[in-house]
Parts: sequence; structure tokens; C-alpha cells
Amino acid sequence: MRITVLGKSPAWQDAGGACSGYVVEHGGTRLLLECGNGVFGRLREHCSYRRVDAVVISHLHADHCLDLMPYAYALTYGRAGPVAGGAAADRPALLLPEYDGLATIRRLAGLWGSETLIEEAFAPAFHTPGGTLEIGELRLRFVPVPHYVPTCAIDIAPAAGGPRFTFGADCGPNEAVVDLARGSELLFLEATLEQPEASGPRGHLTAAEAGELARRAAVRRLVLTHLSDELDQRATLEAASRGFGAPVEIARAGAEYVV
Ligand SMILES: [Zn+2]
Ligand SMILES: [Zn+2]
Repeated sequence: MRITVLGKSPAWQDAGGACSGYVVEHGGTRLLLECGNGVFGRLREHCSYRRVDAVVISHLHADHCLDLMPYAYALTYGRAGPVAGGAAADRPALLLPEYDGLATIRRLAGLWGSETLIEEAFAPAFHTPGGTLEIGELRLRFVPVPHYVPTCAIDIAPAAGGPRFTFGADCGPNEAVVDLARGSELLFLEATLEQPEASGPRGHLTAAEAGELARRAAVRRLVLTHLSDELDQRATLEAASRGFGAPVEIARAGAEYVV
């Protein structure tokens, strides 16, 4: 399995950066995991936007789904051949959180035109907390994690078995992501915060917390993501490495990981 970082910014982009977006490829299967603002252009640098089997969205915050708009325009009007409205099998699948149905993507598209733009460009389907889905040669498991809207962390493995990649999505400290990631080859965890939220429910992690969760999950490698270039990168790495008990990395656009 090959994982390529397209964007790793939090809700506001790094200088020259993009929000959440990762390509996961194995055999003949290609997923786009998250489609935040700035991701569609990066996807085009990586591959044809027609050659994506499924777009998987962990939760419906803008920095994880906003570029579904330009992607849908491309599938509707682009030179690579319009697929919108055609047979569902010819369109990329779009896996959305089930709780909201198509309501958010209809609101999003409807702000500027047809509210069915996105659902006609993709083949929408839903993932469920605790559920498992097979997409081509990959198997995905979804578990709910604490955030400000319903959100699933996602574990991805070859359907035939093999090393796993686990994506923590956006989350506050929790046990579910530890259980999901246990023994994974590669874990991407968010490290949005310099300090824990001062009040209210937890919805994000500090680097130290990410390191600690990864250590308890006994993963082989930890990559921090969803953190701003405005944070002190060295202090972030030191805090996470202390928690993890081994060196960690910060995701970088263009970086590739093979598991
Ligand atoms: Zn979020
Ligand atoms: Zn986010």
C-alpha cells in the first residue's frame, strides 16, 4: 500500500499548502482519503481525477470536504470526460458519514447552483460507525471518535491481508483510536493543538497526546498531521517523540509512505 500526502494543514492552509487530503493506492485500487480545500489541485498533480475509485470523507468539516465542489465541476464539465449523471459504476464512489445523508453536500452545492451537483458527479454511499467496507482491493474499518461533529477514524488494509494504515481523522483523546490502530504499520494522527482546549469538549490532540496514544497502540510508525506551519515544528516533534518513545515525523505535502 502506498500513502501519499496531498495536504496536511488544519482548518486554515499552510503557506502554499492544502487542507486534509491523502491518496491510498494498492494494486489497481486508488482512494482519495479526505478532500479538503486545496486538495483537488494537488490530486491533479498526482493522477487523473478520473482514476480515483472512491473518495472517503471522515467527517463533514470544510477542511475535509470543501474540494468536493471543484472535483464535482471537473467530473461534470472537465476535459477528462464528463461522467456526471452517467452510470454509477463510471463515477468515483463518494463515501460519506451516514448521519447526515446527503444534506450537507446538497447545501454546499446548492449555495451556487444545482444542489445535486456533487451527488450526480460521484456515486454517493455511506459509511457507518463500527462498519467495514471493501473498495476494490482494500478493506476499510470505521470507528467513531470524539470531535465536534460525528467523525470516524479509518483503518485501511489490503482486502487479502497485509500491513495496515490507520488514519485518526480529527479527534480528541480517546480509546477507540488506540484500539483501531493497535499493531498498525503506520498511524497518521492529528496534532492540531499546542495546549489542550481550555474549556468545552475535547475535539483535537496535542502532539504529546498523539505520541502517547500511538505508543499505547504499539504502532510501528507515527506521522503527525493536521497541524499548522505556524506551530514550532521542533517542539512539536520533541513532544510527540517523548510520548511515543521513538522518533516521529510531521506529514509533508508530497511525502509518500509504503507499508
Ligand atoms: Zn474537523
Ligand atoms: Zn479538520
